[in-house]
Amino acid sequence: MKINENYTELSSNYLFADIAKKVQAFKAENPKAEVISLGIGDVTQPLCPAVVEALHKAADEMGQGATFRGYGPERGYDFLRNAIVENDYRTRGIDIDADEVFVSDGAKSDTGNFQELLAADSVVAVTDPVYPVYVDSNVMSGRRIVKLPCTSENGFVPELPQEHVDVIYLCYPNNPTGTTLTKEQLRQWVDYALLNDALIFYDAAYEAFIQSEDVPHSIYEIEGARQCAVEFHSFSKTAGFTGVRCGYTIVPKTLPVPLNQFWSRRQCTKFNGTSYISQRAAEAIYTPEGKQQIRATIDYYMQNASLMREKLTEMGFTVYGGTDAPYLWVKTPNGMGSWDFFDWMLHSAHVVCTPGAGFGPSGEGYVRLTAFGTHENTEKALERIKTLKD
Ligand code: PLP
Repeated sequence: MKINENYTELSSNYLFADIAKKVQAFKAENPKAEVISLGIGDVTQPLCPAVVEALHKAADEMGQGATFRGYGPERGYDFLRNAIVENDYRTRGIDIDADEVFVSDGAKSDTGNFQELLAADSVVAVTDPVYPVYVDSNVMSGRRIVKLPCTSENGFVPELPQEHVDVIYLCYPNNPTGTTLTKEQLRQWVDYALLNDALIFYDAAYEAFIQSEDVPHSIYEIEGARQCAVEFHSFSKTAGFTGVRCGYTIVPKTLPVPLNQFWSRRQCTKFNGTSYISQRAAEAIYTPEGKQQIRATIDYYMQNASLMREKLTEMGFTVYGGTDAPYLWVKTPNGMGSWDFFDWMLHSAHVVCTPGAGFGPSGEGYVRLTAFGTHENTEKALERIKTLKD
């Protein structure tokens, strides 16, 4: 039998599966311990009322012969694509056509699948540390990967590659470091891509958490990006859609290669669309009430982020991120390894973090904490860490 041997090159488990196993083993040995997770990036706050109402309405429509919907358009319904164009782009002065919007079941599928459109021998650059999906999906296809270290020394801003690369994955605000690029820093990447005939795959999953003025919400705020960049979005963290599933990808028709046409062809073959109910729920995010309600939830998480930054810094930790992103990148004390620090936090504070080394070699010596907990659990976790530090 012949199989795709590239799979043997993958690390044996997905990072979060490894963490879950360790946490489960700890809970089995310590059934009374109340474990708080500041680890995986799932949300805790419920869907906002505008979304719930849209879900109910769409469900009712699906239950009536006259309004029932079966398979929808592969690129998504016009009502949602138009709302995206209007609210996420036109209001920022960015010209995106509805035909450039592809609604998806989330950014994980699209960031993982989009590499199918690349040549088999494309060289792929990723930041290190990195959201593992970009690496794993390209390893599965046997591509060579160039890592661009992001460390405290370079302020977590990757340096331009020393060798030719065909594609660069950028994720800003960044998962896992919680750091951002300014418009000027992103402009250098767009210029690099244009000059070197490279593509940028820009993951803007955390765009809604940006608070700073000079941090771009979309790569298309940079001149020339329509000629070199594809942009991925997710409603998962913006609006609590981790369980609802909906996101979108922008594939400009102005790229020098026919990716818009190819992606459409790919989706028509392999994807049967995002559910009508999910798309109506996503549309509700763009209503005046929806906008206000999701903002309140984002503010809730960012209050956690701010408290975590403040308290951890007071305790003597060196902390990055957490001002324009729901992630904090914390340096482990006394040169401790990131898996050792993970074990220490789990066993001593009963708090789960994510070891930075799981995101790539440059993540060694750091852990990622998320601001997606409840206020109560976040405060409790910080108290426990403080008690241990004192
Ligand atoms: N991109 C990044 C950087 C993420 O952190 C995540 C989820 O954690 C995703 C994409 C996937 O999001 P979705 O839930 O839309 O698949």
